[in-house]
Amino acid sequence: MSLIHLFRRCNQRCVFCSYPAEGGEEGGASLKTWLSELAAMPPGLVQISGGEPLLAPAGDLRLLLAAVRRLGRRAELQTNAVAAADMKAGELAALVKALNAADGYFNVNFPADTAGLDYATTRTRGAFGKRLTGVRRLIKTGARVRLTHVISSLNYRRLPGFAAFAVKKLEGVSWVQFSYIKGTGRGADPRFLPRYAAVRPFLGRALLVCEKNGLRCEVDHIPPCFLGGFYRLNVDIVKMEEGLPGPHLAEKARLPECSGCRYLGICPGPRKDYIAVHGKL
Ligand code: SF4
Repeated sequence: MSLIHLFRRCNQRCVFCSYPAEGGEEGGASLKTWLSELAAMPPGLVQISGGEPLLAPAGDLRLLLAAVRRLGRRAELQTNAVAAADMKAGELAALVKALNAADGYFNVNFPADTAGLDYATTRTRGAFGKRLTGVRRLIKTGARVRLTHVISSLNYRRLPGFAAFAVKKLEGVSWVQFSYIKGTGRGADPRFLPRYAAVRPFLGRALLVCEKNGLRCEVDHIPPCFLGGFYRLNVDIVKMEEGLPGPHLAEKARLPECSGCRYLGICPGPRKDYIAVHGKL
């Protein structure tokens, strides 16, 4: 798996943004740079991120996706989908076609099921309605869409409500990932990192809603010991079973409490930034 940060420019100011608040390319990075980064990357899925990638020139984005396809690789386009609400239909269709040709999908950061909570999280007026429209347009245009719902202290009590919202209002979404906030970048504020134990009952109910309604889902950055009967939804398990390298090993660490845990062989432990804030599970 490889990650290209196109630039730092974004149309939201999410409290959980894990991209460094400072540094990086504000807006001037070019297609040439992205293509040379791509050529130097190890094999596997290519994640295209920002800032907000849909703010890049549409033609450049398509050329980047075409290069991914030529290399026989798959693409994940990470976006908040706000810009997709206002894209011209022809431009949107061309982007979806280029992404589909690279066997790819949109990974849409969708943090809330109400406009008020969306604003508290993204600090961007009007983003909720645009995002809803953007995702529906992507699906209607033939794109595969994954939703990433970042869990923070602002929204964890609404997890079952978000699952129901995804089922009812975002029909056609391929799957949902519930991803605990990374305590890096702007997300480094400890106030936004709830205890796993506080999240557990709400997440359990959300996963049940997904299961009952046939909506595929997965969980990242919350260890199996907090997932009950849904523990296999933790995305690290397959990586651990297959002995794959990756950030899950570098970003996480086991605690003395992990000793004797039945999931020890398939769990790298909680995130180190979680440990720094809470000290224990
Ligand atoms: S290894 Fe530690 S963090 Fe992972 S499931 Fe076991 S107790 Fe939880």
